[in-house]
Amino acid sequence: CVSNLNHYFDEGALRKQVLFDINLEIKAGEIVIMTGPSGSGKTTLLTLMGGLRSAQEGSLKILGEEICGAKKQQLTKLRRQIGYIFQAHNLMTFLTARENVRMSLELHDNFLNQDIDAKAIAILETVGLGHRIDYYPEKLSGGQKQRVAIARALVSHPKIVLADEPTAALDKKSGRDVVEIMQKLAKEQGCTILLVTHDNRILDIADRIIYMEDGQLKSFLPTNTGSIK
Ligand code: ATP
Repeated sequence: CVSNLNHYFDEGALRKQVLFDINLEIKAGEIVIMTGPSGSGKTTLLTLMGGLRSAQEGSLKILGEEICGAKKQQLTKLRRQIGYIFQAHNLMTFLTARENVRMSLELHDNFLNQDIDAKAIAILETVGLGHRIDYYPEKLSGGQKQRVAIARALVSHPKIVLADEPTAALDKKSGRDVVEIMQKLAKEQGCTILLVTHDNRILDIADRIIYMEDGQLKSFLPTNTGSIK
C-alpha cells in the first residue's frame, strides 16, 4: 500500500522530483501491470516497492510493514520475501541454469540441501527447461534465460514478484511464453505480481493495468475501477 509517496534524485546541487504523491493499493494475489512512457518513474517506483531503494517521503507498506525510512536490516528481511525478474536476466554466467536456481534457495536457511536440488530441477521442468538444467546461460536463448530467471525468482515461493520489462528483447512467441509461465506459477503459488512493461502484447495477463506519466499515476486501465487509496 503506497500513500502520498514522493521521491527525489539529487543531480549535482539540484534535487529533482521523480515521483509525485503516489497512492496505490495492490491486493494479495493480484497481477498488476504498470505501463507508461520512458522516464515516467515506473522503475523507480518498482525499486522502492521492492526495498531496493529507500523511500524518502510518504508511506510505503509492503506485506503490512512500513518501509519508508526503514533500516537496511529490515529491507534485507523484506527482500527475502520478494522475487525479482529483470530485463537483463541477471543470471550468473559462470553457473548453470540449475546452479542459478539453487543459489536463490541457498540464500534461505529454511531449505535442506537435498531438497534444494530437487526443487531447482522441478521448477526448471515446470518452465520447460528440463532438458537444459546443466546448460550455462551463454548456451541458452533469450527466452530460455528469462525462464531461468523466472524459475529462480519463484522457486522459494515469494509472496511478491517484481518484474521489470521481462519480455524486452524477446520475440512475440517467447515473450508470450515467458509471461504465461510467470502468470501460471504466480496463480499456483498465490503470489502478487507487479510488472513494468512497454509491451502491449502482454497487457491481457493483468488483473489491473496502471498508467504512469511524469511521475504520477494518471489512470487505472482498462476499467478505471482499480482500487486506489
Ligand atoms: P523506462 O521505461 O525508460 O525504464 P521509467 O518509467 O522506468 O523509464 P525511471 O527509470 O523510473 O523511469 O526514471 C524516472 C526519472 O528518474 C527519469 O527522469 C530518470 O532520468 C530519473 N532517474 C532514474 N534513476 C536515477 C538516478 N539513479 N539518478 C538520477 N536520476 C534518476
